[in-house]
Amino acid sequence: MDFTDRKRITVIDIDEFISENLNSVMQLIKQLAVIPSPTGMEREKALFCKNFLQSNGVTDVLIDEADNVICKINCENGRQNIVFMAHTDTVFPITQELTLIEESDILRCPGIGDNTANLAIMLWCVLYLHKCEINSDYGFIFAATSGEEGCGNLKGSRKLFEDYGKTVREAIAFDLYLDSLIYEAVGSERYRITSRTDGGHAYSDFGKPNAIERISRIVSELYDLSLPKASGFHTTQNVGMITGGTSINTLASEASILYEYRSNNHVFLEIMRENLNAIIERYRLFGDVSAELIGVRPVGINCNKKKQNALLERLLNAYVNVLPLPKLKSGSTDINIPLSMGIPAVCCGLVLGGGEHTTQEYIIKSSVQKGMKTALNIIKSYSSQ
Ligand SMILES: [Zn+2]
Repeated sequence: MDFTDRKRITVIDIDEFISENLNSVMQLIKQLAVIPSPTGMEREKALFCKNFLQSNGVTDVLIDEADNVICKINCENGRQNIVFMAHTDTVFPITQELTLIEESDILRCPGIGDNTANLAIMLWCVLYLHKCEINSDYGFIFAATSGEEGCGNLKGSRKLFEDYGKTVREAIAFDLYLDSLIYEAVGSERYRITSRTDGGHAYSDFGKPNAIERISRIVSELYDLSLPKASGFHTTQNVGMITGGTSINTLASEASILYEYRSNNHVFLEIMRENLNAIIERYRLFGDVSAELIGVRPVGINCNKKKQNALLERLLNAYVNVLPLPKLKSGSTDINIPLSMGIPAVCCGLVLGGGEHTTQEYIIKSSVQKGMKTALNIIKSYSSQ
């Protein structure tokens, strides 16, 4: 069906639409959950999403160079657009077994809440708009985005806003849980720090440099730093991975860590960068140490407060009569990109659950209906009817 030729029909009642399709939404969550989608390997899940939309009659859908699935509705005639996005990638490696376990109202699977359920609900929002075109002054761009987790560096969101940013009025990401809403971007910088030495035999070369010992000293210096502090701002750091060495009886010739720091204050990010550089410079005096920047997530410093608050209010209104209002938080998500470009953006979850980034991750099945209602209330708020 072509959206431009479609006859405008009355908006289908949201509750009616949800009760008619809730079982199918649950089925889609289960289908998506067992498709592996580590960051950088989202293509299979992206293809599934595209096929799902197309097999339900949605025609204006494509996969872009970043493996985002993009679907545009009502975007003709140079309208300003509203972006909805949900990331397709998970933190789990390709080898992770993805088994669904149902225990009464609980559904368990790695990645189920972060971000499978949100993605499935967003895809059903597309079908809602497809089935009952609403009269709106705005166009809607739905994007199943890549590269939100790990070292994905917000690849999908970057590409999306590079392509459509100039036309976007507001952006909403669906991610994590219904009880919190992210309205402020936490920026981060991520590094691979590597120490290299000549190596040698553990006994006969004892006393020569060992890359693991050196990288361990760097880790401990990082954790001895006092982090910048001020009221309303939060700064963290983490060494998330350590690799290296050859065998128990070999002086390690190479060792690396993955290190990141985050803050909702861009000046504090600069302080963290200076601290890191000072440590690296000092260790360079003794040997080969490098710090490679592998990811930057910008802090949202360019956004008009009034416009951002208006979007926040729009979302909070969508929660009324559905659930208690969510807690407002700062976070590092797909909305870092629009916020850094001055585009108002918020991120909210559409299910209740917990255990994100663990293999024990779960969602509460009965919350899906509330999440759908919240999402559709948000979409309906852009209607001109
Ligand atoms: Zn997520």
